[in-house]
Amino acid sequence: MNVTELARILKVPTTELLNKLPELGFDIGKKAIKVNDKLAQQIMVAWRKHEKQLMQKEQYLKGKDKEVEKEVEAKGEINIPPVLTVRDFAKILNMPVTEVIAELMKNGVMASLNQRIDFDTAAIIAEDLGYTAVAKEAIEEGEVDKSAKLKEILKKEKNLESRAPVIVVMGHVDHGKTKLLDAVRKTNVVEGEAGGITQHIGAYQVKKKGRKITFVDTPGHEAFTAMRSRGAKIADIAILVVAANDGVKPQTVEALKIAQEAGLTIVVAINKIDLPEANVEKVKQELTQYNLLTEEWGGKTIMAPISAKQNIGIDELLEQILLVTDMEAEKIVANPKGEFVGSIIESHVDPNMGPVATVLVKNGTLKKGVSLTVEGVYYGKVRAMKNYKGEELDEAGPSVPVQIIGFKVAPKVGDVIEIAEDVKKAKRKTDYYKLGKEEEFVTVKEEEEKEEKEGITKLNIVLRTDVLGSQEAIMESLEKIETEDIKIDIVAKGLGSISESDVLSAEASEAMLFGFNVLPSGAAEALARDKGIEIKTYKVIYELIDEVKVKLNELIKPELVREDLGKIEILALFKKTDKGQIIGGKVTEGKIEANTTAAVFRNEDFKGLGKISELQAGKQEVSDVEKGQEAGMHFQGQVDVEVGDILEIYKEREQKKVI
Ligand code: GDP
Repeated sequence: MNVTELARILKVPTTELLNKLPELGFDIGKKAIKVNDKLAQQIMVAWRKHEKQLMQKEQYLKGKDKEVEKEVEAKGEINIPPVLTVRDFAKILNMPVTEVIAELMKNGVMASLNQRIDFDTAAIIAEDLGYTAVAKEAIEEGEVDKSAKLKEILKKEKNLESRAPVIVVMGHVDHGKTKLLDAVRKTNVVEGEAGGITQHIGAYQVKKKGRKITFVDTPGHEAFTAMRSRGAKIADIAILVVAANDGVKPQTVEALKIAQEAGLTIVVAINKIDLPEANVEKVKQELTQYNLLTEEWGGKTIMAPISAKQNIGIDELLEQILLVTDMEAEKIVANPKGEFVGSIIESHVDPNMGPVATVLVKNGTLKKGVSLTVEGVYYGKVRAMKNYKGEELDEAGPSVPVQIIGFKVAPKVGDVIEIAEDVKKAKRKTDYYKLGKEEEFVTVKEEEEKEEKEGITKLNIVLRTDVLGSQEAIMESLEKIETEDIKIDIVAKGLGSISESDVLSAEASEAMLFGFNVLPSGAAEALARDKGIEIKTYKVIYELIDEVKVKLNELIKPELVREDLGKIEILALFKKTDKGQIIGGKVTEGKIEANTTAAVFRNEDFKGLGKISELQAGKQEVSDVEKGQEAGMHFQGQVDVEVGDILEIYKEREQKKVI
């Protein structure tokens, strides 16, 4: 960018800008004509900050500081992390992304939706808008409160009606979550309906005593993730499945903590009571440690003994769910006639239909034909809506899960979706979105090219862990190893035993296959043996990380490191040979050695490279010649050397970076 243009944006004469910049810590020289974009941006931010300080000082001196406060309505404190995306910043401000982008532009910061800005930049904007910006410790990505909008809508709503409760099923792997979801579906959905269900859309509804209950049936770890993304709060009640023959296990504890943190009511289903070794009382006893005390012992938690396999206790469990729903009746509400808002609970790209996603209606009614947005960005139109039975719907009310076809971009699980009030405006906003996407695309492509060219070390990993917590901890440690030259890609991950599909993924992507606190199933072990794939299991995180480092060190390609030796000035050309020249000169710097490389410079211009051999001092062949001495040598290179040339002599050796 030209300095004059920068001055124009900042509304200041160019000379004044150039004069003031050193004061702000930018020493670009008084005669600078151009500045690069990044620097320009930094200057703009600093300039605005400076202007604001000046203004405040001026107002203060005039004793008019109260007026300054009045200028923008004070809106209270907001927490801003050290670095955040524009999109997340908009969420914090509870403002449409485009308006935030516009505010940033006003301050000279050109940033697209997914671009990251730092605290200082965000704070200036926030303060312009009347907030007091408070630095927040780094927060996890995606931790921004997605339900802010939802909460706001529900707070405004007056005509709230009760709706079907939304249930998630959580628990340790193999304790029977899937079986329970199947049992519930089979016994209840089909009641009096022909055909039954054929669709898995991520959620379904059942009827009990004439009332509907919505079950989210996304795979275990996805349900976990969705629950983790604070605020998406997809459910009202969590059924914690604990196998009566196995008791409380690590994922049981993790699941119950996640549910407790999300403020869900927990109903415990003690499963597999058909097994002779089932011990229901023991499970109840174990759960007391986690603030879950059964009603029978004076506690508040419902614990229902069931057998998902033999269909024992399922009806009773559903009745208990209705009971909890009644107890929580005040919270399980929505206004079907109010403003629509929904949560994405499942999302994928179908090869034929394009992006397909399941929305759980949280408030209002979703109708066919409307345009949808995620945080103000246009995501597409509802072309068709299907329920869990595969039936086409024209509208869906609160707590109804519907699969939507018509998205242009696949939303993420946990995204909060709304109806576009002004489609044109929303589409304009999408341009920003696309902008961000394209940038990402370019960098990915560039990165791939770079990897090819520069021999970046890449390591693929398939990772199985006992609980989500250890998975996250391992992934975090692996990220720390990554550098510009080392990329670690987790090609598959999951909780529970290492399966055959893990072995196949590891084979397909030539990945290392790790288990943490888990073992391979018998079949996986046999398959791995067959395929010659090594399964490595660990109980200590740093041992796993050390193994990754060992592997990376094996993979890292050695770099050529240059060692400068000295310079020689050419004084004589003795004769030409078949392959080169016999030349002589005086060492002017350092020393020169035989069998090294020479860079030829003529009047300080680089002319080409060559090799030096047969080094002689006087009549004797030597291995090196020091500064001040004269030497003769054979030169063989891309150019012919002339008298007066300076040869810079260096050698290269291979060196391996070790991590
Ligand atoms: P998830 O990993 O929690 O989804 O567990 P699944 O539903 O896949 O069940 C794991 C295994 O336990 C399967 O082999 C089921 O057949 C079995 N299982 C589930 N529920 C019961 C039950 O009530 N009784 C018995 N005996 N086995 C069960």
